[in-house]
Amino acid sequence: MHTTPTPCPGPCNRAWRDAEHTGLPHDYTPAWGQPVHCQTCQDRTRADLAELPELLAAIQMEAIRGTAKPADVITSRPAGVAPWPGQASRLLVDHILGGLTEIADDVRELRGLAPRRAAVREGTAVTATVQFLAAHLDWLLDHHPAAGETHERQSGNPAAQIRAFNRTAKRFTARDNRMEQKAAPCKRCTWRALAFADGADYVECRNCGLLMTPAEYQDWVAEVAANTPNRNAA
Ligand SMILES: [Zn+2]
Ligand SMILES: [Zn+2]
Repeated sequence: MHTTPTPCPGPCNRAWRDAEHTGLPHDYTPAWGQPVHCQTCQDRTRADLAELPELLAAIQMEAIRGTAKPADVITSRPAGVAPWPGQASRLLVDHILGGLTEIADDVRELRGLAPRRAAVREGTAVTATVQFLAAHLDWLLDHHPAAGETHERQSGNPAAQIRAFNRTAKRFTARDNRMEQKAAPCKRCTWRALAFADGADYVECRNCGLLMTPAEYQDWVAEVAANTPNRNAA
C-alpha cells in the first residue's frame, strides 16, 4: 500500500507551518512523517522519556531539601495560600507523574490492556510508568488518536506532552543553562532570544518557541545580513 506522506506534526516543522499559515510562497520544506512523526522527533521523544526518571528523582530531592525555587514554574497555587518548603517540587512531581500516568492509562484503555496495578512507592511508579510508555512509544507516536496533532502549546499529542514534561523538569533543575546565545533576532517574534541548547537538534527562540534547524538558521542569518546596511554586523 502506498500512502501520501504527511508532514511531521513535531516541532521540527514549526517554521514550515508558520510559513504555510501566511499563505505566501516560501522555501521551507517540511520533514516528512515516518509514517506520522519524522525520525528525529521519534528519537528525541524516546530520549526525552528516558531522561524523566532521573529528572524526577532530582526534583524529589529538591522537595526533601526544600530549597527555594523560581516561582514561575508552578502557577496552580491558589492566591493567598502560603507555600510550604519544597512545595513547588512536590507539585511538579505530581504534575509530571500524573501526566505520564494519564497517558499510560490511555494506552491501556485504547489497546484493551489490563488496568495498572497501583504502585506502593512513588519511585517504583515512575520506573514502571516510564518503562511502560517506552514499550508503547511507537504506538503512541503512530497510532494514538492525537499522534497527528501539531505540537503547539496545549497539544494533546503524547509526544508533545512528554517533551513538555522533560523541558519543565530541566528548567526546574536548572539543567537548561548550557545555551549558546545566537546573535540574529527571532524570525517570528523579532526578539533576540534565539539559542542553541547543548545537544539539541534545533535553534530555539526562548520567547516564542520557534524552532529552526541549523541550516534554516544559517539561511536566516544570511537574509538578516543581506538586509543590514553594515554587512559585517551579523
Ligand atoms: Zn519531526
Ligand atoms: Zn521568537
